[in-house]
Amino acid sequence: MGIKQHQKTPSKIMIKTKEKSRILAVKEGYGVAVDLGATNLKVAIGLRNGKILAKKSEPTAAVSGSKALTRKIIDRINGFLIELNLPYERLMGIGVGAIGPLDRKKGGIVKSPNIPHYNFISIVQPLTNEFNVSVHLLNDCVAGVVGEKLFGLGASEENLAYITISTGIGGGVFVDGHLLLGKDGNAHEIGHMVIDYQGRLLCGCGKRGHWEAYCSGRNVPNYTRIIFEDEGWKSFSKSLLNSYTEGDPNKITTKDIYYGAQQNEKTCLKIVEEVGRLNAIGFANVVNVYDPSLITVGGAVALNNRNLVITPINKYLNRYIINNPPIIKITPLDENIVLYGALAAAFNLVNSQT
Ligand SMILES: [Zn+2]
Repeated sequence: MGIKQHQKTPSKIMIKTKEKSRILAVKEGYGVAVDLGATNLKVAIGLRNGKILAKKSEPTAAVSGSKALTRKIIDRINGFLIELNLPYERLMGIGVGAIGPLDRKKGGIVKSPNIPHYNFISIVQPLTNEFNVSVHLLNDCVAGVVGEKLFGLGASEENLAYITISTGIGGGVFVDGHLLLGKDGNAHEIGHMVIDYQGRLLCGCGKRGHWEAYCSGRNVPNYTRIIFEDEGWKSFSKSLLNSYTEGDPNKITTKDIYYGAQQNEKTCLKIVEEVGRLNAIGFANVVNVYDPSLITVGGAVALNNRNLVITPINKYLNRYIINNPPIIKITPLDENIVLYGALAAAFNLVNSQT
């Protein structure tokens, strides 16, 4: 009896809260936020104050073809509006944080190295045609830093950077309170900064020596194999990685390496430290170029391995910076940071002039 009551009460409260938010959405207007990433497509409905009313995440690759992907976004939005019983005329705008590179003039995503099976993905025109509201397209990491400034740790910061370490590596930056965009909207393709002039690894973009080619979730295994080549494969055969991969170094995954490090395995810890040192070079470049007082960090690799990612960056940063060090923290907005930024863009809350 008691348990049943406990089960009933929160759901009643939830329905009430949901209805309250819906009424607020009708009264004050609501926005649509889209996070189009390499791995997941997330669509959400939210309020101006950052409250998210509904959210759905699905694999980006679930549909094939650029047009089908845009259609999927439109269908998802329409589905939410029916489900939540929200009138179209109260939709204030749509914000999209998308994997780069972007072509803001054409309003879409240029063939991306991290989703190579899609050609140009048109976003702004089809969404505008369907919903007849302003559509604001931002790089996903630029949306991330907007989310941090509006709804996270960046409220009082004029100089703020957000860095994601995920399938790829990217960033977004405010300098003196201004959001930097660039001529095509790609001012912060920081994952493609050169950190190895010898260019030992080829990046997904086709160029050599880029940060992302060594330290992104997709590419840490490539860098690991270079470490073993340099230091001898003996340490591989003795390490946990040998058993995780049944002795095949081509099967090494980033997950295995960080998992091994979490078990305090010596070889995995050493790899994580080396990856961290290269990350520190990337972070130092951001510090030297943009001079932020705060850098927040997100993306699946960082969110799942908080200390293993942040500790070596702080340890090695001083080797490479000339500016005063910023505070470096994991974002409290977790995996929703891009959605928050897209929501802020939907309400045109930033000086992005998109
Ligand atoms: Zn690159």
